[in-house]
Amino acid sequence: MTEVGCPACGYTAPDNHGPTHAYMSPNGPCWEMYGEVLAREFSDQEYYKSHRLLTDAYCAHHSIADERRASQSLNIHLAGLMLRFEYGESTESIVAFLKSAAGPREFPYLDQPEGAQSITIEAIHAAANADEHAVEVEKYARKVFAAWSDHHGTIRALIEGVRS
Ligand SMILES: [Zn+2]
Repeated sequence: MTEVGCPACGYTAPDNHGPTHAYMSPNGPCWEMYGEVLAREFSDQEYYKSHRLLTDAYCAHHSIADERRASQSLNIHLAGLMLRFEYGESTESIVAFLKSAAGPREFPYLDQPEGAQSITIEAIHAAANADEHAVEVEKYARKVFAAWSDHHGTIRALIEGVRS
């Protein structure tokens, strides 16, 4: 069976020829794994507590295409991670920011950093319960945020621009 690697995170698995996404860049197996993790979050309130953080991390991580929707996704989801990790903001406050940031605004293309391709959601997928899920989502999100550290200045300027 042919193995395929996700261009965003490097996750490698037999090709499932599954669906992917309109502007994010997961391969079929990565998208399927993410779908299974999301299904857990939507069926269990305890898992759902990690939903905002996982969404911002996975969507930022996988929005690497050089096109407007992907750049918007990468910039605003990285901002979501920054608001959580550096500003210590609540989920409600982050959601409000994401809504006001989207729209007719220029979002720069940010190069995918090298380290991004060795971070996957496999440990999240393998978590045995909601506590492990929360721990693994936090670790994953911190790694994604750190991987894009060269662009943190751009993201800080976006946050300040949206809120000024
Ligand atoms: Zn992936």
